[in-house]
Order: sequence, then C-alpha cells, then structure tokens
Amino acid sequence: MELSRREFLKVSGATAGGLAIFKIWGQDIAKAAPRGITLTKKIGETTTICPYCGVSCSAIMAIEDGKLVGIEGDPDSPINEGSLCPKGASLYQVANNEERLKEVKYRAPGAAGWTSMNWDDAATAIATKIKETRDSSFIEKDDDNKTLNRTMAIASLGSVFPNSEEAYLMVKMLRALGLVYISNEARICVSAAVAADNETVGRGPMSNHWIDMGNSDCIVIIGGNMAESFPVAFKWVTRAKEKGATVIHVDPRFTRTSAKADYYARVRPGTDLAFVGGMIRYVLDDMEANPGNYNMDYVREYTNASFLVNPDFRGPADTLDGLFSGWNGSSYDKATWAWQSDTSETDNIKKDPTLTDSNCVFQLLKKHFARYTDDKVVEITGTDKARFQIICQTYAGTGETGKAGAFVFSSNACQRSIGTQTVRAFGILQLLLGNMGVAGGGLNGITGAVNGLGCTLQGLSNAWGPGASSVRPASSSEQSLSAYGGDQSRFASILKAWYGDTDVDTSFNYLPKRDGDYSWQPLFAAIDDGTIEGLICWGINPAVSGPDSGAARQAMRKLKWMVVIDLWETETAAVWQLADCDTEVFLLPAASSLEKEGSICNSGRWNQWRYKGADPPGDAKSDLWIINELMTKIKELYAGQSDNNAAAITELTWDYGDPPDVIQVLAEMNGYDLTTGALLTSPGSLKSDGTTSCGNWLWCGIYTADGNKAKKRDTTDPSGIGLFPNWGWAWPLNRRIMYNRASVDVDGNPWDTEHPVISWDGSSWSGDVADGGWPPVASSDKYPFVMKPEGRGYLFGPGRPDGPFPEFYEPWESPVSNPMSPQQNNPAIKIWETAPKGTAADYPIVATTHRSVDHLHTGAFTRRLPWLIEIAPEMSVEMSHELADEIGVSDGDAVIIDSARGSSVRAKAVVTGRIKPLSVNGTTVHNVSLPWNWGYMGLSTGDSTNLLTARIGDPNTGIPEFRAFLCSIQKA
Ligand code: SF4
Repeated sequence: MELSRREFLKVSGATAGGLAIFKIWGQDIAKAAPRGITLTKKIGETTTICPYCGVSCSAIMAIEDGKLVGIEGDPDSPINEGSLCPKGASLYQVANNEERLKEVKYRAPGAAGWTSMNWDDAATAIATKIKETRDSSFIEKDDDNKTLNRTMAIASLGSVFPNSEEAYLMVKMLRALGLVYISNEARICVSAAVAADNETVGRGPMSNHWIDMGNSDCIVIIGGNMAESFPVAFKWVTRAKEKGATVIHVDPRFTRTSAKADYYARVRPGTDLAFVGGMIRYVLDDMEANPGNYNMDYVREYTNASFLVNPDFRGPADTLDGLFSGWNGSSYDKATWAWQSDTSETDNIKKDPTLTDSNCVFQLLKKHFARYTDDKVVEITGTDKARFQIICQTYAGTGETGKAGAFVFSSNACQRSIGTQTVRAFGILQLLLGNMGVAGGGLNGITGAVNGLGCTLQGLSNAWGPGASSVRPASSSEQSLSAYGGDQSRFASILKAWYGDTDVDTSFNYLPKRDGDYSWQPLFAAIDDGTIEGLICWGINPAVSGPDSGAARQAMRKLKWMVVIDLWETETAAVWQLADCDTEVFLLPAASSLEKEGSICNSGRWNQWRYKGADPPGDAKSDLWIINELMTKIKELYAGQSDNNAAAITELTWDYGDPPDVIQVLAEMNGYDLTTGALLTSPGSLKSDGTTSCGNWLWCGIYTADGNKAKKRDTTDPSGIGLFPNWGWAWPLNRRIMYNRASVDVDGNPWDTEHPVISWDGSSWSGDVADGGWPPVASSDKYPFVMKPEGRGYLFGPGRPDGPFPEFYEPWESPVSNPMSPQQNNPAIKIWETAPKGTAADYPIVATTHRSVDHLHTGAFTRRLPWLIEIAPEMSVEMSHELADEIGVSDGDAVIIDSARGSSVRAKAVVTGRIKPLSVNGTTVHNVSLPWNWGYMGLSTGDSTNLLTARIGDPNTGIPEFRAFLCSIQKA
C-alpha cells in the first residue's frame, strides 16, 4: 500500500497511541489526556492556505471547541511539502490574539475616540452614506450625451487578501454602484510586470509555477530577495541547484538569496534594466558568432524578430538623445513604430525570415542594445565587470536547444519609473534564449500577497472587470455591447451573471464608463482635491503603503467618511488620531482566513481551497458576510427609485442566502449554460447571445458537475516534471505552464525531451493542457503566444507609451547623470509629487527598500504577533561600514533619515557588510536599505519608510518608484 506523507503521519500516530499526532499539533498530551479527550473527536483537523505571500503554503489546523489550538505545514502539499516560514508558523497568534477587533467601532466627526456600534446600525449607516454620496455626485451623461453612469465621489481600495469569491462579490457591488476609483495593492506592487508581460508574451502573471523552478538549468533572481520574501518557494531554487542548476542573484544588497547563489552581482538601485540590457547585447553578439549554440528556429518562428518595422523608425542608437522617433515633448506619436504591410501574409505583416533586413526587429534590436557594452553596464550599475561577464556567459548557455533558464523577480524590479521597461528587458532575453513555454523557464513575476492574483483578476483594478475584461471607455459610437467588439462572449456572460434576464445591451449601460486614469496615485490626488468624499478600505493600509505617506495621511483626513474593514485597528483606521479632522470612520471587524472558507489563487495561478477552522472572535465577520450585508441594505434603500441609474442596483442579481453561500458565488463565477442550467466546463463554451452566464471567464471550469476543483488534493504527478494536475486547479483550463506550444518545434516535438511539457502524436497533445488546442504550427499556422495578435512573442513592443525597446534612464532622484544619454529620466514619467525633486547636494545617499522575512507589507498583521516582533522588533536601516564611518554612526545607533518630502524617519542603524558603496561613473555612491513594514499602530511601532518616497510613477501603470530615491542620514 502506498501512503501519502500525511497518511503516513496519521498511521504512525495511530500505531504510537496517538502520541505522534499530538506532536504534530504541538500539543501537550499530558494536558489533554487527563480530561479524557478522544483526540480525533476533540481536535478536528482541516486545511487552510497561509494568508501571507503568493507561495500559498498549505497548512493543517487543529480546532478544539471552535478555537485554533495548533497549526503545522501540510506534508501533502506538493508546493510546501510540510514547510512553513516564520510567518506561516506563527498563524496560531492570528486566531488567538487580544489585539483583534471584536466589535464594530465608530468615530463620529471630530470625536476624540471610538464608540461601539452593532452590525445592523453600522450597515444601515454605511449604506445610507454610500447612497447619499452616490446620489449627490452621480453623473449619468457627459456633455456629449454619452453614458457615463458613475460616481467619482466614492473610492474603494483593496485588497489582495480576501478569498476570490469575496473579491468577486466586492467588484460586483462596487461596479453596480458606479465606482470607477477602484484599486488594490497590486497597482503599487507588480503592475509594471503586468504591463510588460502583456506586451511581451500576452499575459501578466508567472508563466510557470513554483515547483517548476526545480526543472531549471539556471535561475536568475533579480530585483528581489526570494529566500526571505518567498522563503518556502525558495526550496525549488535550491532543489534545482542540487540537480546542477546555476543560481544567479542580482541585487543592491547581499542577502540570504545571495548567500545561496553561485554568482552574486551587486548593482546600484534602479539599474537592473542596464544590467539585463548588457546580457541581451552579449547574447545577440554571441548569436552572430556561434549561432549553433542557440535555438534560432525558436527566435525566427515564435518571436516577432522577422517582422519589418517602418523604415522611418529611429531609436536612441540613431537619435543619440535617448528618445525614440515620434516624441512630441509630452508623448510619443507611434506612426513610425508600425509594421510594414504585406497583404500576401495572413497577418498582413512583411517579414524577413533571414533576419538580415536592416528594418527587421532582430537587426533593430541588435542596434539598440549594442550600446549596452560591458563597460557601459559597469559605468551605470557599478557592478563588477568580470562577474558580469561570467553571468552573461552562464545564462546565455540556457539558449541551447533543450536547456532552460528562469527569470524570477518581484516588486523590487517593478517599483521604478522604468519598471515596465525593466521587465520588458527580462522578457526579451527570455524570448531570445527560447526560455518561454518550456519547463524550468519562464518569466516569473511573483505576486507578494497570497491572493493578489485572484483578487486583481476579479476586477479590483480601475480598468479591469472580472477576468481582466476591460471596463468600457465612454465612446462616441453606439453605446451597446456589440458596438465595442473584443471579448463579446466573455462580457455578455458577465452581464448575464450580474443582471440575469435583463438583455445585455441594457445591462451593458448599467455599468460605469471610464475616460481617465483612476489608479492609485490619481485616486489619492482626487481625495486631496476633494473629488472623493468617501473611501472604503478592505484589508488595506494605505496610510503606510502608499508613496509620500505623509501626504496620503493628510489627504485621508479630508475625507467626509471612511469605512475600514480589517482584523486590527490599522494606521489607516486611526489616521484621524494624528491631527484634528472631521472624518467619520466606521471600523468593521473582519474574520481572518483561518475563520472562513473560499479559494485563493497563488502566484503560480494555482487555486486552492481554504476551509473554515476557528470561529472569528466576537462580532468579527467574513468579508463575504459584510459585502452581502451592505449590498442587501443598499438594495433596500434603492427599492422603488428610478433616477441616478438605480436599476444598476435594483436589477443586480443578489440572492446568496444569509449567511451567504460561498459555493453559490463560486458557481456564479464559473458560469452556467442558461438553456440547460448546467455548469459550464470551459471558457470556450461562452456565448455572446445571452445564453451563458459566467462571472469570470478565467475561472470557468473551476466548479463543474465534477465538483469544486480548488479542493482537489491528489498528489500524483503523471507528468514527471511537477505539474501535479490534480492538486487544486490552475487557470486557464488547469494549464500549469503557459505558452507551452513554444516548448515544441513546429511539428510538435519537445525541444527538451527530458522535460517535455506537451507533445503532439499526430492527432492530439499529451502532457500539460496545450495553450491553444490547435495542432502544432506546421499544421495549423497558429503560433504559441496566443494572446498576442500574431501569436509571436514581442521583442519589439509598440504598445508601450515609453518606447518599443527598453532604454535605461536614471531614477527620478539620482546622484548620477545618465551615462546612457542626455535624457536623464524616463521622458514619459508621471509626476503627482508637489514637493521638489531631491538633489544629491541635499540628499546624497541612494535609498532602496526591502521587506523582512518576519513581516508582511505594512506590518498590520505581523506587528501584532509577539512571536514575530521578538524576531524583528523595530524599524531599522541597513548601511555600509564605509557610510557609517563617514557620518559617524555605529551599529545600533538611532539615526534620522530625511528626503525632499519633508518628513523624517527615525530608525536603528544596522551597519553591515551586506551593503557596499559603489563606484559609478567615477563617483562613490552610498546606498542604504529600509524595511517598509512599520507604522504607528500595533505592538511594535516605528516610522514608515514611505514618508520618504515620492509620488511619481512609471508611465505605463503609475507604479511608484519606491526602490530608488535620495535621502540624507544623520545620527539622532
Ligand atoms: Fe509559505 Fe509565504 Fe506563508 Fe511563508 S508567508 S508560510 S512562504 S505562504
């Protein structure tokens, strides 16, 4: 008989008289046994998923009388194999914590403190506030009589922590109310990766998954500290290393990730683009010298290398001013970035399969990156030249047919004014080396929070509805669904899920239309200027997490009302305590993930189920319950009303029971065939004629007649490469490696016969779920990057506002003149900051930020847990011995850090060899790094790093430049 690891533990526990079972709960058998407790009856076990990071480790909870009495890593999970990091291991203290909110709290305008409130009064008061604000600000039409049906006076922020079903219901409510200001943490965390990867390969999330890193021949971890930020997933990097893979780490700080790497390259904060630009140049040069070392068929067939660009196109290599052709002083006219046309081609694009035409993408790419020489890379980044050359040579080795290299990165690579183009550079390198679609390869941009992907893809983003469907713009064309084109069947199916029998052209106009940017930074500008009067914060803490926190806190104190739903009294909930203000605040106690059930989608796109374990403390409720309560009250208030697009609310389908049934919500997300009532099995069955409903096409197939696939826990792996197809369910269609039709040649034979992802037997695919069910390219003319119009990966990306190729520009604040060109900053940079840019004369030190292994994000959770505070007790700043000597600071001294934003941060100096000054372009540049996990509430308090950061952003998504700014430091 074969036993799973978990079954083995059960059996060994039983044969040892239960002792082993008690041990795995961490319980004292001597205490339990005298009470005559039968363990299996008294301590019920159930599984959950850790609520912190995007690894999504599975854990087993021991529950006794509704209380969590123990928690351990789940040995059956193929992802974490029983491991938990310090955060996961301390979950016991989330469920058993005197700091948790246990009742609704209310702060009246101008009041000096909180008062208690019951749920019914609070829900009625909040629903009334929402209605009053909505109705007094509602805009049905614009001046051209185009339908807008929106309110600009209410905003919603958050989150990345609720279950997907909760996020879906949240979005359904918010859009029905007509909100356009909707954002969550993903916008300021990894949105640049989404914009970049959409441009390069067609989809934003990790292309591969955690376990697959174990298949890699070489892993580059850049712009992040995976060993500490995603500790359990790092085991798959070390697993690859044990099998012979090379690990490369590129980062300003020497961290635990560096300690495990074969090669560590230190770089100046904000310069990863130049580093990878140099790697691209190396590969392109080597391809010319040694084409046999590369999979040139992959480059020719699966990328747009052969496409011919307008001969008038010019790049910085031609203009020498750091700009591409078409710059008009504020934006690019992209006319010269267009493809040359050839009507004999099915995609109407002229191509040169020899890759020699001077206007083909391959030659333009070579010309562009030829300037990123070894010396130029060293001049910009300050890295060691010999080390850089070894890294180029080593990683280029993954370009050999049958080899695979993975790029792994997270928010650190994204939070720059050139964040999107930085990640574009990663994608270009991966395409050139044939590393997309194969096992052990991929563009793996990690989501920092457990359900960042699941929540954002339900539509918690200003421009997205469920499944990343577009929130429709106001348009002068006929205002109906059919007039907009695009994802008709998906959008029609959302409308049927939300508005039932109402015809889709009518319900289409119930939903708000957009004509501006409503993402994080514009949202805070709109709070500041009084446009937004009411703010709802769902498990999010913008008083700490946003750029220029001092300005954000000041803006929030201008709000008329604010609703905060959280486990704790966060800095955001308490923002009125900093200074006089009239903001009316409702603080609603939320259940933790251990106290409710639903699914989450991890960074690798795997959906797993969290079961309810403990009972929530006091009056705390799940987000699902809170949303249901609020929307039920709002619908009651709108009953009988006809103006202000009230039908969007009154006609909204909303009947989930009381308490709401999470399975019913999941089934709605999955969708139905409305002609038969049967659950749908795949997005391919969606129709635009109103005969299917589907709340989120990406989730279609998760809940079918076969049951809830997020609950699947079969640990068999017929693939042999760690796909584990029956553990949870991955969107889309349970596909584990995206773009996998690029893992085979045009005839369907795997490039890597040792790690085949899919293969074609002449009539069907075997292995993973093929990305596109067509036969291979030679038989179908269907190329593997199915979300790109021509099916090819984009080396040349004309869709971005700041250039079709990545170009290095200095961070907004930098002590260095751009060594690459006279263009100092990204020309298309977005600026909301009102304070002047800091200069090196006043602020000579380059600061970057990091997160500690023991804390998550703003620390709202983890600074309430004594076990974690004991490990990482206070706000700190890491600096080199050289800088410490220069400013007269010793390890452990208190220091004051200032930036041009005008707020000071006090921190304890950690003087360490992990950070070193760099010689950049003949100048010594000192760097420091600060954790961003502190604020003024909780058991451990400290100044927030974001008091120092600026309200500027990447032109693609507005993601702030948290990771490189100027500061000064002095001894306190
Ligand atoms: Fe796993 Fe991340 Fe939780 Fe740590 S924080 S236990 S790595 S999911």
